[in-house]
Amino acid sequence: MSDCVFCKIVAGQIPATKVHEDEFTLAFMDIGAVNPGHVLVAVRAHVENIFALDDTLAAAAFRTAARVARAQEKAYAPEGVTLYQANGVAAGQTVFHFHLHLVPRYARDGMRLTWPAKNPPREQLEASAARLRAALE
Ligand code: AMP
Ligand code: ZN
Repeated sequence: MSDCVFCKIVAGQIPATKVHEDEFTLAFMDIGAVNPGHVLVAVRAHVENIFALDDTLAAAAFRTAARVARAQEKAYAPEGVTLYQANGVAAGQTVFHFHLHLVPRYARDGMRLTWPAKNPPREQLEASAARLRAALE
């Protein structure tokens, strides 16, 4: 897509600091890195979000993510690695071309994800699962 920043990176029209590329994916440094070694794994094709991701691209994206995570572990020996992936504005997505964040993590690095657990009763979990099973393709 002509106005998509990640499509421009894939096409080599704007600079990016690349870590890995293959037939389906491109891994490059996040310009707004939270910690050193923060990598984005994007699919090459312009796919807006996870809802439009086919099985080939989903597998390729996660394969690259796992490889990059292992490289981060080897290169940085972080205390952990967080995968973050946003779909839609409400979820925090700002670039509408599918990508995964891989962020090397440390105990006091300031990165926060608010996680307001509601601990619903079992009946609610059962109702949610039934609704999702009926919607599965
Ligand atoms: P998200 O909010 O999950 O859509 O993340 C988008 C990410 O893309 C942000 O962390 C940005 O720092 C990053 N980003 C935006 N433009 C560029 C760019 N030209 N090169 C590298 N990273 C970028
Ligand atoms: Zn794009």
